[in-house]
Amino acid sequence: MIQVTSLIGTMQTVGDESRMPVVDPATAEEIGSVPVGDAADVDRAVAIASEAFPVWSGASTHDRAAVLHALADAIEANRDELADLESRDQGKPLSLARDLEIPRAAANLRFFADAIRQENGDFFDLGSQGINYTLRRPRGVAGCISPWNLPLYLFTWKIAPALATGNTVVAKPSEVTPLSAHRFSELASRAGLPPGVLNVVQGRGDTVGARIVEHPDVPTITFTGGTSTGEWIARTAAPMFKRLSLELGGKNPIIVCEDADLEAAMPTIVRACFQNQGEICTCGSRILVHRERIKAFMARFLECVSALKVGDPLDEETDMGPLVSADHRDKVEAAVARAVAEGGTLACGGGRPSTLPDRVRDGFFLEPTVLMGLDQSCATNQEEIFGPVVTVQGFDTHGEAVTRANATGYGLACSIWTRDLDRAHRMAARIESGMTWVNSWMLRDLRTPFGGMKHSGVGREGGAEALRFFTEPRSITIAHAGS
Ligand code: NDP
Repeated sequence: MIQVTSLIGTMQTVGDESRMPVVDPATAEEIGSVPVGDAADVDRAVAIASEAFPVWSGASTHDRAAVLHALADAIEANRDELADLESRDQGKPLSLARDLEIPRAAANLRFFADAIRQENGDFFDLGSQGINYTLRRPRGVAGCISPWNLPLYLFTWKIAPALATGNTVVAKPSEVTPLSAHRFSELASRAGLPPGVLNVVQGRGDTVGARIVEHPDVPTITFTGGTSTGEWIARTAAPMFKRLSLELGGKNPIIVCEDADLEAAMPTIVRACFQNQGEICTCGSRILVHRERIKAFMARFLECVSALKVGDPLDEETDMGPLVSADHRDKVEAAVARAVAEGGTLACGGGRPSTLPDRVRDGFFLEPTVLMGLDQSCATNQEEIFGPVVTVQGFDTHGEAVTRANATGYGLACSIWTRDLDRAHRMAARIESGMTWVNSWMLRDLRTPFGGMKHSGVGREGGAEALRFFTEPRSITIAHAGS
């Protein structure tokens, strides 16, 4: 059993509070527990983070970068343990955690450590009148709130730029997946992060998360999660003039044009739909296929989807593990039932797998599910499901594909599959999406802006966007003597 004892990471505060169970979604067994923090714990964490701010923000960029690199080293040295925690906490295949997500958590820290060492400031020559330059200063205590789907990957994606730029942090992982964040805070202490600089408060969203948002001494909030939570955060933070970054849900289209190289595209399209059980905000959930190719597409797509191995996440051969919790599986199953009630036909999946290894037979598994026959306006094609469920629709013209792609309240990610690059450029420019991938999906470079438009969020993460978000520009003008 994993017993997490500290509420607040680098402070190592031990509480005897009520505890939350941690459940392995693959086995439905309780594998540990964490203490449940409350608003008072957040207040203490913010006080300590505020106290640590002058020293951390005053450290040289070289020193801050060195600590972040040391922390990345620690993640890499503990990669297998962290991957095991994430797989057991979240249900993701161990191989995905080990080979992609934990290395990415280390890469997040290294990227922002290097970025601050390379950063240039702005300078304006005012001619005979003088000069102007911009100082960028950290904003104080940053509140970082992250979801359960990519626990350490997204946690570090927020924390790394906040710390690199000299802010101190109060962070809350999802109560559904608390383990890797706790281990991360232990590693941070050992890697040389000064006490109080990073404070991880475990607990529920509506208490701990809400208090971080409401706290008057936390001027910066970065949040990744559901759109309705984001809406509450925006409403609460706006009157306090807090700076907000909101990375929210999506209903992402995958557009397959008539000239797409289906054979080459298929492995990526299948991954775009079902990686991490479809529990990735950028996963495609609406496939739009040119009617000329829909028959060929469906034949090959269903063949590949049926070949996905759903099972024990610890098995190296597994492609899809369980959904994150029993509640979440209930929600996804209800969405599938609604799709059928709306007139959708199941091309494959829709139920729980009938054959599972003994160790995981009680887990929260669901088959990869493909639905057809649903109009763009129905709830299934409008609302985020956040699971292994996709719909397929046909289109006749590229204009129609763009119109359908845009016909939701969301605007996070899109992928377009075509050999005609001129067409790809034209479509990409018209699609209301924060990120569009052409002939790829999740081809990521940490310098590029990450985030969505419309109800998918406000602001962008990554690269220079993140460095600007966590700093306050101060424009300083100096007149030349006698000007
Ligand atoms: P939630 O919005 O339920 O939770 C996200 C985080 O916010 C959790 O840590 C949660 O805590 C916390 N939280 C909940 N209520 C509040 C509150 N009132 N104030 C402050 N914090 C709160 O989302 P999920 O965890 O269910 O994550 C899934 C969602 O995240 C999906 O909609 C998905 O699309 C989106 N997402 C978006 C991404 C993007 O980059 N655009 C990337 C990944 C996911 P707790 O869990 O303890 O309740």
